[in-house]
Amino acid sequence: MDLAVTDATGIEVLIAGAGPTGLLLANELGLAGVRAAVVERLPRRTGQSKALNLQPRTAEVLDCRGWLEPILDRSLALLPAGHFAGLPLDYGALDTAFPNQVGVPQARVEEFLEDRLVEYGVPVLRGRELTSFRQDAQGVTVTLQGQDGAAYTARAGCLVGADGGRSTVRRLLGVPFPGRDGRIGMAVADVELAPTAAGSDGTDEPWRLPDLSPTVEGAAYLLPLDGGVHRLVFGGPEQQGVDRDAPVTADEVRTALARCPGPPRELRAVRWASRFTDASRQAERYVDGRVLLAGDAAHIHAPAGGQGLNLGMQDAFNLGWKLAAAVRGWAPDGLLATYHAERHPVGARVLANTRAQMVLTLPDPDAVLVRELLADLLTTPEANRRIAAMIAGTDIRYPMPGAPDHPLLGARAPGVRLTTGRGALLAGAASPLAAAAADGWADRVECPGHGGATDTGEALLVRPDGHVCWAGRAADTTGLRTALAVWFGAPGAAAVRG
Ligand SMILES: Cc1cc2nc3c(=O)[nH]c(=O)nc-3n(C[C@H](O)[C@H](O)[C@H](O)COP(=O)(O)OP(=O)(O)OC[C@H]3O[C@@H](n4cnc5c(N)ncnc54)[C@H](O)[C@@H]3O)c2cc1C
Repeated sequence: MDLAVTDATGIEVLIAGAGPTGLLLANELGLAGVRAAVVERLPRRTGQSKALNLQPRTAEVLDCRGWLEPILDRSLALLPAGHFAGLPLDYGALDTAFPNQVGVPQARVEEFLEDRLVEYGVPVLRGRELTSFRQDAQGVTVTLQGQDGAAYTARAGCLVGADGGRSTVRRLLGVPFPGRDGRIGMAVADVELAPTAAGSDGTDEPWRLPDLSPTVEGAAYLLPLDGGVHRLVFGGPEQQGVDRDAPVTADEVRTALARCPGPPRELRAVRWASRFTDASRQAERYVDGRVLLAGDAAHIHAPAGGQGLNLGMQDAFNLGWKLAAAVRGWAPDGLLATYHAERHPVGARVLANTRAQMVLTLPDPDAVLVRELLADLLTTPEANRRIAAMIAGTDIRYPMPGAPDHPLLGARAPGVRLTTGRGALLAGAASPLAAAAADGWADRVECPGHGGATDTGEALLVRPDGHVCWAGRAADTTGLRTALAVWFGAPGAAAVRG
């Protein structure tokens, strides 16, 4: 589909929402030279973080563009493990260069991604809430409301709703959002605590996996952040049936604090607090004409295992290059449709595993038995590795119809750096032959010589999101050229709109 904007305002992609999903997408579009803009209803960053981690696949994604290092510099901890309903998963067994959860507050990831946009000249227009839009054959007209109550109109080639779980874009689009409401109420609070008897504020303690063993009092655990602040996550009888927007009271926080394992801690102050549930819903379509959904706007679920931000950022990484190709005019037929085809099942799987995890935290005697069985199973390395790879996101394999089967087909190519945002042809000794075959795609696919390649005569064609879309003999130039056309369009200079 041709998503070019045909009027003079020049915004090719408008993104609603400057959360991690919208900001990573804006970076991907900026890198590809797309004229994008982000509108965000909040007038300034809050500094608050719901998520505190990057899973290994998200670390790979950021490293692929050379953006991981500065995020590691902002991190609080590296934890060589993940968890499934609190049951430990060994990330050391994963096939990845980043076998850790990176403990980094969401706000720091957002700040990094937003600051990077200056390089591309992609503006983040704060204090602008998208309130309505209308799409037509040429583009999308949106209405934005400013802080002063004034309404603004903007025109773009297409619109991406990255505006969170209560997405206005999704609601206005009318896309069904099937699933179920929350059954379990929980809360999160960033708290300042009095020093322990030993005089420490406790924030120098190492990160541990949460203990989510079911108890009738409910779950409560503390995680040290920095600056004298702890993250308290809790859910007990007091949080059930409470309106999600009702303020979290200091009494609730004190009760939960008393339930945390370890020595008693005294509450000094609550920095911010919020409620959440295990509501679980997924948009039926991620693409509707010129309007697309990504991140929490496309799916909501319990934060079990720490996956939501990661899922959203990986949506953005899958979408960015495809949307850029569509906007710039070189996308082959059906490329943009693969965004939904590939990411909807990944989202559905996260919804399923988070629902399963929440059941395992219930103090229901039958659920406790299932939990014990699973805990036993997870002591076997293969079972542990499989669940670890699912939570880490390293086992995602997209279908690649028509390509010959290969163990790496559809999987991510480990350790590949694609800092220009182009795809790559990795070939060994036979690379001159393969490289010559790919010559017509040189502006979309780089051939980094022998780097990272085997000398077995094999070649890998890697998409800009690091997934292998063709693998075969480097001498099979016919198969290679077919795959190049399927994923990167027609040979010859890509049509680039000025
Ligand atoms: C308590 C809790 C703990 C969590 N912990 C983790 C974790 O450890 N790991 C993990 O991976 N995930 C975690 N998550 C989930 C994670 O925080 C979300 O999945 C993530 O924030 C989704 O990012 P997003 O960019 O899609 O949406 P959001 O972060 O919600 O960003 C959407 C943005 O859009 C803006 N916006 C909304 N409406 C409009 C509009 N009409 N116009 C313009 N702007 C608008 C909002 O102000 C916001 O800035 C947690 C969630 C909760 C609730």
